[in-house]
Amino acid sequence: QPQDRPQARSTGERVLVLIKPDAVQRRLTGEILRRIEAKGYELVALRVLTPDAATLAAHYAEHVTKPFYPGVVDYMTSGPVVAAVVAGQRVVEGVRSLMGATDPTTAAPGTIRGDLGRDWGTSAIQNLVHGSDSAESAAREIAIWFPELT
Ligand code: GDP
Ligand code: MG
Repeated sequence: QPQDRPQARSTGERVLVLIKPDAVQRRLTGEILRRIEAKGYELVALRVLTPDAATLAAHYAEHVTKPFYPGVVDYMTSGPVVAAVVAGQRVVEGVRSLMGATDPTTAAPGTIRGDLGRDWGTSAIQNLVHGSDSAESAAREIAIWFPELT
């Protein structure tokens, strides 16, 4: 139990976060983790790796047939990502709120994507960060990126 947050409770709610290759290349890993930690969430697992096509196809199962998916593969395999499991009450909602909307050009200022992202004219939308969109997605994605946790 964290000593500096006497009301904090461990609920077991978890989310998968990916700090995408553009963010790692731009040295924004620390800034993004800082925002997640400063919000009050707990980092429970962290790994640096360059994803392979099979991992991405599992992760983005809902998108593999979409026209933009080849661009997503090029983007997401272009360099290392930082994968994290983050925990806390309502953390799925909270991380989605911190991230902002998918398109960084119009994502709200104050969010990670809104403050730090832009359109670079690339085929995939480069938007710095991934966060699971539901508790069910989080469980499925954590099993892909951190099989040892499940
Ligand atoms: P997210 O949950 O906000 O990351 O958005 P989605 O789950 O809808 O999409 C997954 C990722 O695919 C996004 O973060 C983008 O990198 C990319 N993407 C989504 N929609 C589009 C699109 O319409 N065009 C392109 N080029 N990329 C997209
Ligand atoms: Mg998504």
